Amino acid sequence: MGAVIGVIGGGQLARMMIPPAVALGIEVRVLAETEGSSASLAATAVGDYRDAATVLAFAFDVDVVTFDHEHVPQEVLAALVAAGIPVRPGPDALAVAQDKLVMRARLGALGIPVPAWAEVRDRSELAQFLAANGGAAVVKTPRGGYDGKGVRVVRDAADADDWLAAGPVLAEELVVFRRELAQLVARRPSGELAAWPLAETVQVGGVCAEVIAPAPDGGSLIVEAREMAAAIAHGLEVTGVLAVELFETVDGRLLVNELAMRPHNSGHWTIDGAVTSQFEQHLRAVLDLPLGDPSPVAAVSVMVNVLGGPAGAHLPDRYPAAFAAHPDVKFHSYGKDSRPGRKVGHVTATGGDADAVRTRARAAAGFFDS
Ligand code: ADP
Repeated sequence: MGAVIGVIGGGQLARMMIPPAVALGIEVRVLAETEGSSASLAATAVGDYRDAATVLAFAFDVDVVTFDHEHVPQEVLAALVAAGIPVRPGPDALAVAQDKLVMRARLGALGIPVPAWAEVRDRSELAQFLAANGGAAVVKTPRGGYDGKGVRVVRDAADADDWLAAGPVLAEELVVFRRELAQLVARRPSGELAAWPLAETVQVGGVCAEVIAPAPDGGSLIVEAREMAAAIAHGLEVTGVLAVELFETVDGRLLVNELAMRPHNSGHWTIDGAVTSQFEQHLRAVLDLPLGDPSPVAAVSVMVNVLGGPAGAHLPDRYPAAFAAHPDVKFHSYGKDSRPGRKVGHVTATGGDADAVRTRARAAAGFFDS
């Protein structure tokens, strides 16, 4: 069928779409921000994704456009649609992922449980929210945040003055959670949906550190999370992969924290731990092809992120020792310059016993601590 997918953004998510595309004989072309990006192997263009002319020139002869991130402006998405180029997920769905205030409002309208929240425009409104919510709040910038940047716990109404100077912010109750979970699904334009098992995610300093799948002791949450993600995917008409980040509260309720409409860190384990990875599934879904089986191939998969450190470790430098110690662990490098705190790779271990698999995955990732 000679399918060509244009991916906007050259980060690790675009990079990890390349191997399944090669396997399936689907052509992936990437519009990267810079030379030498993570996805440079498939980068046919380098340019600014905020510039409509650049994006149209990149996309004019692809079959479908999809994304490595959610930051492409609505005007640029509209220009693609006007040019007759299929955009998946579409502009209306992406608008929800692009702005946390819009996201909260739309989730509320769909009847999806979310933390108590308010749009806050100034210090006095924040003071009111704090007073109504036990004196603490999580304040978020509506746009552009990632990996905990743009998220702050505040206890004093003056604590968000810098952000309020730039416009309204989202204030949320500080959720006391037992753990964080993520439900990943994929949806085709025709409506077919596939769900991977519910996963548990562990964040350190707002950054995902590790993921265990399936989430231990999921119980009734398994069905609840799947139904919630399906309702969101259908309700917002998401096409491609949708990640729903969840809090499990101490009293056993699920609240939606975040949505991502693209492959997501909580699903990296699927490359080595599921019949169909989130990256292959995303390609299938945006091309409106029948979806693959999302079943896990092992009882337990644990993914541990590798973050760059002060020493600037290049993952392959450490492969001789890491591979020798862990022949059964899968290593993934994003081909990025290592900067402190930056996600530069991940490892995945699979097996039968959760504690043993977690120990192996952590030990393998530990080879890249600098
Ligand atoms: P980002 O867009 O940067 O990933 P998130 O909204 O996902 O930001 O928040 C990052 C992390 O901060 C979450 O994974 C969670 O650990 C914590 N967090 C976010 N919102 C809340 C909240 N309302 N209550 C408690 N913790 C929160």
